[in-house]
Amino acid sequence: MSASPSDVAPTGSTGPVLLADPRVSAIPVVEDGSPLVDLAGVGLRVSSQPPPPPPGLGLPPTSTDPVPGARPGSHRLVRRTLAERLAEAETLLPDGLRLLVVEGLRPVGTQRMIHAAYRARLATERPGIATHALDRLTSRFVAPPATAPHVSGAAVDVTLADGDGRPLDLGCPVDATPEESGGACYFDAPGLDDEARHLRRVLACALVPAGLVNYPTEWWHWSFGDRYWAHVTGSPFAVHGPVAAPDHASDTAATLSPRARPGGG
Ligand SMILES: [Zn+2]
Repeated sequence: MSASPSDVAPTGSTGPVLLADPRVSAIPVVEDGSPLVDLAGVGLRVSSQPPPPPPGLGLPPTSTDPVPGARPGSHRLVRRTLAERLAEAETLLPDGLRLLVVEGLRPVGTQRMIHAAYRARLATERPGIATHALDRLTSRFVAPPATAPHVSGAAVDVTLADGDGRPLDLGCPVDATPEESGGACYFDAPGLDDEARHLRRVLACALVPAGLVNYPTEWWHWSFGDRYWAHVTGSPFAVHGPVAAPDHASDTAATLSPRARPGGG
């Protein structure tokens, strides 16, 4: 059987603050206009293809194509502020390890679609569930479009790879739902083996000093400048709101500042 949220929430608490929480959604955005940057163009490793729809969303199981609405290469884009921090984080990793970004920017239409699909699946599995409870359950794994970090280019799904670019095992696949992973998607999930727990710590020890914050229900999800970042850091406002995806990632010309380039140049 899959775990319920109460099974996987940290002991002694009512669980992490979620993206649907009013304390997060009420935070204003004071957009700073940071441009989108192609991570693949600035020396960071990015998956060659955007992730397919996670099977746990309840979308047709035959679909292995990118999520409808995705623009070519948009998953490689993030705000320059975030790209610079990822470049800094990469320099903090132990020798032989690299960051591997799976997804950055997600078009808002895509976010709406996957949010609705997962919410509908949960509603079907829990007849009679109250609306607020359904919203909370949904936002463990898929952010409401209004507060979604990925549509702002302010978040990445990121894991670790070895020197040859092979992804490492951090306890469950990126994008595994709480139901699929038995709660192993939670950053501090109990029951992880020592290696997975160690590698999650290595990831955090590079990303936290660089200024990123983790979404506790997804070990792979890290952000800078979005509402959730503002909530965690105590900033009175977010600096990145939703941003339009260009038709092609190659349309973005922005680069990192010289000091932030991975590998020192
Ligand atoms: Zn994410």
